[in-house]
Amino acid sequence: MGFTIPADTELALRLGVFLAVFAALALWERAAPARTLRLARLVRWRANLGLAVVNTLVLRVVLPGSALAFAALAADEGWGLLNRVELPDWAAVLAGVVILDLVIYFQHVLFHSVPALARLHAVHHADPDFDLTTGIRFHPLEIVLSALIKFAAIAALGAPVLAVLVFEILLNATAMFNHSNVSLPAWLEPWVRGVLVTPDMHRTHHSVIEVERNSNYGFCLSVWDRWLGTYTLAPKGELDIGLSGWRNPGAVATLRGVLRMPFTSQGV
Ligand SMILES: [Zn+2]
Ligand SMILES: [Zn+2]
Repeated sequence: MGFTIPADTELALRLGVFLAVFAALALWERAAPARTLRLARLVRWRANLGLAVVNTLVLRVVLPGSALAFAALAADEGWGLLNRVELPDWAAVLAGVVILDLVIYFQHVLFHSVPALARLHAVHHADPDFDLTTGIRFHPLEIVLSALIKFAAIAALGAPVLAVLVFEILLNATAMFNHSNVSLPAWLEPWVRGVLVTPDMHRTHHSVIEVERNSNYGFCLSVWDRWLGTYTLAPKGELDIGLSGWRNPGAVATLRGVLRMPFTSQGV
Protein backbone atom coordinates (compact mmCIF):
# COMPACT_ATOMS: atom_id res chain seq x y z
CA MET A 1 0.00 0.00 0.00
CA GLY A 2 1.21 3.50 -0.80
CA PHE A 3 0.90 5.19 2.60
CA THR A 4 3.95 7.28 3.45
CA ILE A 5 4.55 9.99 6.00
CA PRO A 6 7.38 12.58 6.00
CA ALA A 7 9.93 12.07 8.80
CA ASP A 8 9.30 15.49 10.39
CA THR A 9 5.51 14.87 10.43
CA GLU A 10 6.11 11.49 12.07
CA LEU A 11 8.31 13.10 14.71
CA ALA A 12 5.80 15.90 15.41
CA LEU A 13 2.91 13.41 15.63
CA ARG A 14 4.73 11.06 17.97
CA LEU A 15 6.06 13.86 20.18
CA GLY A 16 2.62 15.50 20.29
CA VAL A 17 0.85 12.31 21.38
CA PHE A 18 3.64 11.55 23.90
CA LEU A 19 3.38 14.99 25.54
CA ALA A 20 -0.44 14.96 25.60
CA VAL A 21 -0.64 11.46 27.15
CA PHE A 22 2.20 12.27 29.59
CA ALA A 23 0.49 15.49 30.77
CA ALA A 24 -2.93 13.84 31.14
CA LEU A 25 -1.55 10.89 33.13
CA ALA A 26 0.67 13.12 35.32
CA LEU A 27 -2.39 15.20 36.27
CA TRP A 28 -4.42 12.03 36.97
CA GLU A 29 -1.60 10.63 39.16
CA ARG A 30 -1.50 13.88 41.14
CA ALA A 31 -5.26 14.05 41.58
CA ALA A 32 -5.84 10.40 42.56
CA PRO A 33 -2.63 8.40 43.17
CA ALA A 34 -3.12 4.64 43.62
CA ARG A 35 -0.11 4.30 45.96
CA THR A 36 2.13 6.56 48.02
CA LEU A 37 5.54 6.86 46.35
CA ARG A 38 8.69 5.91 48.30
CA LEU A 39 10.99 8.48 46.74
CA ALA A 40 10.52 12.10 45.71
CA ARG A 41 9.15 12.34 42.19
CA LEU A 42 11.84 14.78 41.13
CA VAL A 43 14.64 12.31 42.01
CA ARG A 44 13.18 9.35 40.08
CA TRP A 45 11.93 11.42 37.19
CA ARG A 46 15.43 12.83 36.65
CA ALA A 47 16.74 9.27 36.27
CA ASN A 48 13.81 7.87 34.26
CA LEU A 49 13.41 10.83 31.91
CA GLY A 50 17.20 11.09 31.63
CA LEU A 51 17.22 7.46 30.43
CA ALA A 52 14.51 8.25 27.86
CA VAL A 53 16.63 11.12 26.48
CA VAL A 54 19.77 8.92 26.36
CA ASN A 55 17.75 6.18 24.60
CA THR A 56 16.42 8.58 21.96
CA LEU A 57 19.96 9.79 21.21
CA VAL A 58 21.43 6.24 21.17
CA LEU A 59 18.76 5.01 18.72
CA ARG A 60 19.47 7.97 16.42
CA VAL A 61 23.15 7.07 16.35
CA VAL A 62 22.82 3.27 16.11
CA LEU A 63 19.97 2.91 13.62
CA PRO A 64 20.10 4.24 10.08
CA GLY A 65 16.40 5.21 10.09
CA SER A 66 13.06 4.84 11.85
CA ALA A 67 10.89 1.72 11.98
CA LEU A 68 8.53 3.51 9.59
CA ALA A 69 11.26 4.06 7.03
CA PHE A 70 12.18 0.40 7.39
CA ALA A 71 8.55 -0.68 6.82
CA ALA A 72 8.49 1.47 3.66
CA LEU A 73 11.68 -0.26 2.47
CA ALA A 74 10.15 -3.69 3.19
CA ALA A 75 7.08 -2.71 1.14
CA ASP A 76 9.25 -1.50 -1.78
CA GLU A 77 11.27 -4.70 -1.73
CA GLY A 78 8.22 -6.95 -1.23
CA TRP A 79 9.63 -8.44 1.99
CA GLY A 80 7.46 -10.33 4.44
CA LEU A 81 4.17 -12.17 4.65
CA LEU A 82 1.74 -9.24 4.37
CA ASN A 83 3.51 -7.91 1.26
CA ARG A 84 2.91 -11.26 -0.45
CA VAL A 85 -0.71 -12.03 0.41
CA GLU A 86 -3.73 -10.14 -0.89
CA LEU A 87 -5.56 -8.57 2.05
CA PRO A 88 -7.76 -5.47 2.24
CA ASP A 89 -5.67 -2.54 3.53
CA TRP A 90 -7.60 -2.32 6.81
CA ALA A 91 -7.06 -6.04 7.51
CA ALA A 92 -3.32 -5.80 6.79
CA VAL A 93 -3.00 -2.80 9.15
CA LEU A 94 -5.01 -4.55 11.89
CA ALA A 95 -3.00 -7.78 11.50
CA GLY A 96 0.26 -5.78 11.55
CA VAL A 97 -0.60 -3.98 14.81
CA VAL A 98 -1.88 -7.10 16.60
CA ILE A 99 1.03 -9.33 15.54
CA LEU A 100 3.63 -6.69 16.47
CA ASP A 101 2.00 -6.55 19.92
CA LEU A 102 2.33 -10.34 20.20
CA VAL A 103 6.01 -10.07 19.22
CA ILE A 104 6.53 -7.55 22.05
CA TYR A 105 4.88 -10.00 24.47
CA PHE A 106 7.35 -12.76 23.49
CA GLN A 107 10.24 -10.32 23.58
CA HIS A 108 9.27 -9.43 27.16
CA VAL A 109 9.16 -13.14 28.12
CA LEU A 110 12.63 -13.51 26.53
CA PHE A 111 13.99 -10.61 28.61
CA HIS A 112 12.83 -12.42 31.75
CA SER A 113 14.14 -15.85 30.69
CA VAL A 114 17.69 -15.29 29.40
CA PRO A 115 19.99 -14.27 32.30
CA ALA A 116 22.08 -11.74 30.31
CA LEU A 117 18.92 -10.06 29.02
CA ALA A 118 17.32 -10.19 32.47
CA ARG A 119 20.25 -8.10 33.80
CA LEU A 120 19.36 -5.38 31.30
CA HIS A 121 15.63 -5.64 31.97
CA ALA A 122 16.27 -5.44 35.73
CA VAL A 123 16.75 -1.69 35.24
CA HIS A 124 13.03 -1.47 34.44
CA HIS A 125 12.06 -3.56 37.48
CA ALA A 126 14.43 -1.91 39.95
CA ASP A 127 12.38 1.26 39.94
CA PRO A 128 11.35 1.41 43.61
CA ASP A 129 8.12 3.12 42.62
CA PHE A 130 5.65 2.63 39.79
CA ASP A 131 4.42 5.64 37.83
CA LEU A 132 4.13 6.72 34.21
CA THR A 133 7.87 7.37 33.93
CA THR A 134 8.54 3.69 34.78
CA GLY A 135 6.98 2.95 31.39
CA ILE A 136 9.86 4.68 29.59
CA ARG A 137 12.59 3.47 31.93
CA PHE A 138 14.73 0.93 30.03
CA HIS A 139 18.48 0.46 29.73
CA PRO A 140 19.83 1.70 26.34
CA LEU A 141 21.09 -1.80 25.46
CA GLU A 142 17.59 -3.21 25.98
CA ILE A 143 16.19 -0.42 23.78
CA VAL A 144 18.68 -1.20 20.98
CA LEU A 145 17.97 -4.96 21.15
CA SER A 146 14.21 -4.27 21.18
CA ALA A 147 14.57 -2.07 18.10
CA LEU A 148 16.49 -4.82 16.26
CA ILE A 149 13.80 -7.39 17.17
CA LYS A 150 11.12 -4.95 15.97
CA PHE A 151 12.95 -4.38 12.66
CA ALA A 152 13.26 -8.15 12.15
CA ALA A 153 9.54 -8.57 12.90
CA ILE A 154 8.61 -5.78 10.46
CA ALA A 155 10.68 -7.44 7.70
CA ALA A 156 9.33 -10.95 8.37
CA LEU A 157 5.76 -9.76 8.65
CA GLY A 158 5.86 -7.13 5.91
CA ALA A 159 4.02 -4.82 8.33
CA PRO A 160 2.37 -1.89 6.49
CA VAL A 161 3.80 1.58 7.21
CA LEU A 162 0.48 2.68 8.74
CA ALA A 163 0.46 -0.38 11.03
CA VAL A 164 3.95 0.50 12.29
CA LEU A 165 2.94 4.13 12.88
CA VAL A 166 -0.20 3.12 14.81
CA PHE A 167 1.76 0.48 16.74
CA GLU A 168 4.59 2.87 17.74
CA ILE A 169 2.15 5.51 19.00
CA LEU A 170 -0.09 2.92 20.71
CA LEU A 171 2.80 1.13 22.43
CA ASN A 172 4.27 4.39 23.71
CA ALA A 173 0.90 5.62 25.02
CA THR A 174 -0.19 2.28 26.55
CA ALA A 175 3.24 1.76 28.19
CA MET A 176 2.82 5.07 30.03
CA PHE A 177 -0.84 4.33 30.81
CA ASN A 178 -0.32 0.82 32.20
CA HIS A 179 2.57 2.02 34.40
CA SER A 180 0.71 5.03 35.77
CA ASN A 181 0.11 5.35 39.51
CA VAL A 182 -3.67 5.30 39.11
CA SER A 183 -6.50 2.81 39.25
CA LEU A 184 -9.49 2.77 36.96
CA PRO A 185 -12.88 2.87 38.76
CA ALA A 186 -13.70 -0.61 40.12
CA TRP A 187 -16.76 -1.03 37.85
CA LEU A 188 -14.77 -0.14 34.73
CA GLU A 189 -11.46 -1.90 35.38
CA PRO A 190 -12.52 -5.50 34.48
CA TRP A 191 -14.09 -4.30 31.22
CA VAL A 192 -10.99 -2.43 30.09
CA ARG A 193 -8.77 -5.29 31.27
CA GLY A 194 -10.74 -7.62 29.01
CA VAL A 195 -8.94 -5.98 26.08
CA LEU A 196 -6.13 -3.73 27.30
CA VAL A 197 -3.46 -4.08 29.98
CA THR A 198 -4.52 -1.82 32.87
CA PRO A 199 -2.29 -0.22 35.54
CA ASP A 200 -3.59 -2.69 38.17
CA MET A 201 -2.75 -5.64 35.89
CA HIS A 202 0.79 -4.49 35.01
CA ARG A 203 1.56 -3.31 38.57
CA THR A 204 1.53 -6.98 39.62
CA HIS A 205 4.36 -7.56 37.09
CA HIS A 206 6.50 -5.16 39.17
CA SER A 207 6.12 -7.23 42.36
CA VAL A 208 9.25 -8.19 44.30
CA ILE A 209 7.82 -11.75 44.37
CA GLU A 210 9.35 -13.68 41.47
CA VAL A 211 6.29 -15.74 40.51
CA GLU A 212 4.22 -12.54 40.23
CA ARG A 213 7.01 -10.76 38.33
CA ASN A 214 7.08 -13.63 35.83
CA SER A 215 3.48 -13.01 34.79
CA ASN A 216 1.41 -10.29 33.08
CA TYR A 217 3.99 -9.67 30.34
CA GLY A 218 1.65 -7.86 27.93
CA PHE A 219 2.08 -4.17 27.17
CA CYS A 220 -0.97 -3.31 25.08
CA LEU A 221 -3.45 -6.18 24.57
CA SER A 222 -4.22 -8.20 27.70
CA VAL A 223 -5.34 -11.33 25.85
CA TRP A 224 -1.86 -12.79 25.28
CA ASP A 225 -1.27 -13.42 29.01
CA ARG A 226 -4.68 -15.06 29.40
CA TRP A 227 -4.35 -17.23 26.30
CA LEU A 228 -0.72 -18.20 26.90
CA GLY A 229 -1.05 -19.03 30.60
CA THR A 230 0.95 -16.17 32.14
CA TYR A 231 -1.93 -14.22 33.66
CA THR A 232 -2.14 -13.21 37.32
CA LEU A 233 -5.37 -11.56 38.41
CA ALA A 234 -3.93 -9.76 41.44
CA PRO A 235 -0.97 -9.95 43.86
CA LYS A 236 -1.38 -12.51 46.68
CA GLY A 237 -0.82 -10.09 49.55
CA GLU A 238 0.22 -6.47 50.00
CA LEU A 239 2.10 -5.56 46.80
CA ASP A 240 5.74 -4.58 47.28
CA ILE A 241 7.26 -2.98 44.17
CA GLY A 242 10.83 -3.25 42.85
CA LEU A 243 13.65 -5.76 43.24
CA SER A 244 14.52 -6.85 46.79
CA GLY A 245 18.27 -6.84 45.99
CA TRP A 246 18.18 -3.30 44.59
CA ARG A 247 17.03 -0.75 47.11
CA ASN A 248 19.81 1.85 47.24
CA PRO A 249 18.45 5.07 45.65
CA GLY A 250 21.98 5.93 44.48
CA ALA A 251 21.95 2.74 42.36
CA VAL A 252 18.35 2.65 41.18
CA ALA A 253 17.24 6.27 41.09
CA THR A 254 20.14 8.10 39.46
CA LEU A 255 20.97 8.15 35.76
CA ARG A 256 24.56 7.06 36.43
CA GLY A 257 23.36 4.24 38.70
CA VAL A 258 20.85 2.79 36.23
CA LEU A 259 23.26 2.97 33.29
CA ARG A 260 25.83 0.98 35.30
CA MET A 261 23.33 -1.37 36.90
CA PRO A 262 23.59 -4.37 34.48
CA PHE A 263 27.37 -4.41 34.97
CA THR A 264 27.46 -4.32 38.75
CA SER A 265 26.11 -6.40 41.60
CA GLN A 266 26.20 -3.61 44.19
CA GLY A 267 22.50 -3.06 44.55
CA VAL A 268 21.48 -3.02 48.17
ZN1 LIG B 1 9.35 -7.25 32.89
ZN1 LIG C 1 6.72 -2.59 33.44
